[in-house]
Amino acid sequence: MQKSIINQIFTRFLKQNPNPTTELKFNSNFELLIAVMLSAQATDISVNLATDKLYKIANTPQQILDLGLNKLNNYIKSIGLHNTKAQNIIKTCQILLNNYNSEIPNTLQELIKLPGVGRKTANVILNTAFNKPTIAVDTHIFRVSKRIGLSNGKNVTQVEQDLLKIIPAKFKLNAHHWLILHGRYTCKARIPNCNNCIIADLCDFNKLSLVQK
Ligand code: SF4
Repeated sequence: MQKSIINQIFTRFLKQNPNPTTELKFNSNFELLIAVMLSAQATDISVNLATDKLYKIANTPQQILDLGLNKLNNYIKSIGLHNTKAQNIIKTCQILLNNYNSEIPNTLQELIKLPGVGRKTANVILNTAFNKPTIAVDTHIFRVSKRIGLSNGKNVTQVEQDLLKIIPAKFKLNAHHWLILHGRYTCKARIPNCNNCIIADLCDFNKLSLVQK
């Protein structure tokens, strides 16, 4: 895709939403980390409902450890894979307490060593908590990037590398959230809403659909 088109796409996202951010609710880096860990294969709405209650009782590594595995599991039982997630959260809290003075580390290498924290979660933390221009490729970003024509990568790592290469520096910090929100509300998985899309004239998928009509 031409540089000028990529520039136009992100200029429109910027104009539509100058300060995009996550829809997960949090008041500290620790709360964000736990929310992102819980959000794997779950909706942000379901995570927010659970953390709203949990964080009133426990929102530090020590408090989560004091709560214990069973009670933690009870708070997050409405979220998919909650048993595994609860176990990982307890192990992660122990490491944060022992090795990081209860702070959240700010490098990919350190974050991905925490139980239950993969590359995608780590990139979300680096981007949202530490303002680093990372792009965590989730199911929305993977689909949207390919439809628009930003990448034809075969897996999330290839798409992440393509996006980091082609998105102009000035848009990189917010690109992650613009693409997720676009995928969540407009370029939906089953039926993309091309008639109400602000980048329809720039999108490869839409151009192809028009040719085939
Ligand atoms: S034109 Fe359609 S396929 Fe392209 S980004 Fe917009 S909604 Fe998605």
